[in-house]
Amino acid sequence: MRKELVELHAHISASIPTSVLWSIAHAEGMKLATKDFWEFENKIVLSLERKTTLREYLDTVLHPILDPLSSGTYAVEKAVHETLGGAYRSSNIIIYELRLNPMKHNSGGQQDLDHIIMAALRGMEKALLEFPQIQAGLIFCMDRQFDKTKNEIIAEKAIKYHKRGVVGIDFANYNRGHFSFKEYKDVVKMCRKAGLGVTVHTGETDADNDIGEAIEYLQPDRIGHGIKAAYNKPVMKELVKRRIVLELCPMSNIVTRAVENIEELRFILRTFIETGVLFTINTDWPETMERGHLTDQLELLRNEKILTEEEIDRCIQIARKATFTKGAGINAYL
Ligand SMILES: [Zn+2]
Repeated sequence: MRKELVELHAHISASIPTSVLWSIAHAEGMKLATKDFWEFENKIVLSLERKTTLREYLDTVLHPILDPLSSGTYAVEKAVHETLGGAYRSSNIIIYELRLNPMKHNSGGQQDLDHIIMAALRGMEKALLEFPQIQAGLIFCMDRQFDKTKNEIIAEKAIKYHKRGVVGIDFANYNRGHFSFKEYKDVVKMCRKAGLGVTVHTGETDADNDIGEAIEYLQPDRIGHGIKAAYNKPVMKELVKRRIVLELCPMSNIVTRAVENIEELRFILRTFIETGVLFTINTDWPETMERGHLTDQLELLRNEKILTEEEIDRCIQIARKATFTKGAGINAYL
């Protein structure tokens, strides 16, 4: 019997199969840079042979190409629906938290934010009706490059739609120099009070290594990536003490060179196991990396003897406990 898997860290734009992105673009009559599907796929899909850096991928593919393709009510609804159902069918993912920044999917402000959010929720509801075994929720990402006023609107929307299926908040994207977690103490406190889970992208690369600050000011339940903690004993001590769960995304870190190679990946995961840091295995970008599905990534960890089968099962158990979602199917939000 196939294992039941849990996905706690995946971004909508990079969770849509390229064939679906292609059909959305054509259904909406969007002009693409190429008329050749394979050329399109080569441009957006990373692999061990085609690596990039995190900043380069975010600045040249994810934000300028993938976000606009998954913008508008039609695209957002279809993307969420296809992603949740697809992951259940292909990888038996029964708990799926999908994250998005709704302001990156409203065509630069041309569309109403509430319409975009409702489209995402409709997509999720459709998937939950088709597959009532799935436990799903949305996480709204604030952006380290947005000013606080814009991010506060995202936080307010997350609270507003909490009962409908928005289960948490996040901070994504890299810092261009003006962002500080310290300024968001009040915003995060307000979200937590409303019942939302809190996760934060930090410690993925040296450039965004502010895990200590995130822990001090925001007390997140979980941290996206956080791999740089493996090189910092006091930070690992805090993670263990506060039982903060890391959402690791191994293949994403390798194809963006955040992790140099399999040996560094082994060092990081083994260090966390030996230190008692809690972590889960996730995809980040399941459809824009070759062998990016969760089943493939677990296979990699198994084949490279980085984790034993028992340790993989323990990661799944930790993820089941750390999820912000509450129940299966559409009943969870009725
Ligand atoms: Zn991420």
